[in-house]
Amino acid sequence: MKFKRSVAALLVLAGLAACQQVRTTDGGAIGVERKQTMVSLLSNEQVNQMAAQSYADTISKAGKEGRLNSDVKATRRVRAIADRLIPQVAVFRRDALSWQWEVNVETSPELNAYCAPGGKIMFYTGIIEKLKLSDDEIAAIMGHEMAHALREHGRERMSEAYAKQMGLQLLSAFTKGKYDQYMGMADQVSAIAISLPHSRTHESEADAIGLELSARAGYDPRAAISLWNKMSEASEGQPPQFLSTHPSNQTRINNMQSLMPTVLPLYETARKKG
Ligand SMILES: [Zn+2]
Repeated sequence: MKFKRSVAALLVLAGLAACQQVRTTDGGAIGVERKQTMVSLLSNEQVNQMAAQSYADTISKAGKEGRLNSDVKATRRVRAIADRLIPQVAVFRRDALSWQWEVNVETSPELNAYCAPGGKIMFYTGIIEKLKLSDDEIAAIMGHEMAHALREHGRERMSEAYAKQMGLQLLSAFTKGKYDQYMGMADQVSAIAISLPHSRTHESEADAIGLELSARAGYDPRAAISLWNKMSEASEGQPPQFLSTHPSNQTRINNMQSLMPTVLPLYETARKKG
């Protein structure tokens, strides 16, 4: 496939020019205010749609294998916690109240949990059982994972990958005259966004927002600290995959400690309200 150099350059420029600075969430009490750069070709709706599709595939596979919500007690527990956390998202973004939230539990020995873009939550029984998680600790993990979705960290990573690819394509176009790589770029970008771990910035934001979500839902935010202590004991130098590039436990614990004076009063208020 060949087309003129000028056309390729135009495409690249169009792509780069279409980067925009956005605020995905309001700051909340913990004050996450960083502006994010998104490629406007990649809308929130598109990302959510991709995530919903992949989540549906996961659900269907787990269902066929008898691993979907087969642990009835764990499923009831995780869903009850989600029911208290989800209404709190309005503090950060009101539109998330009307997302199609889904909460499921997969029977698997892995230490894993996630919230895919658009509010698709999954907990593995492995993390609940092996770490003997309390409700407060489950809320800490869930709040953290929900925060990644609220901040659209997935879309931000895809945007970064997209912009990088654009740059690479530009280089390639002018050096070798090869354009074929434009094909399949979306595939590459989504593969990168899914396989690449979150950055430290993303992790810190998710920690902070997660603390506020769980405190407002009436879950003790200090559980986040006992949780990370359990994690580091359980992992012994081999952290669970979904946490593999999370900041070092000590850095993370220090950061969360510094937010306690902000979130503990929210927790007290929520508890008094019952
Ligand atoms: Zn994370």
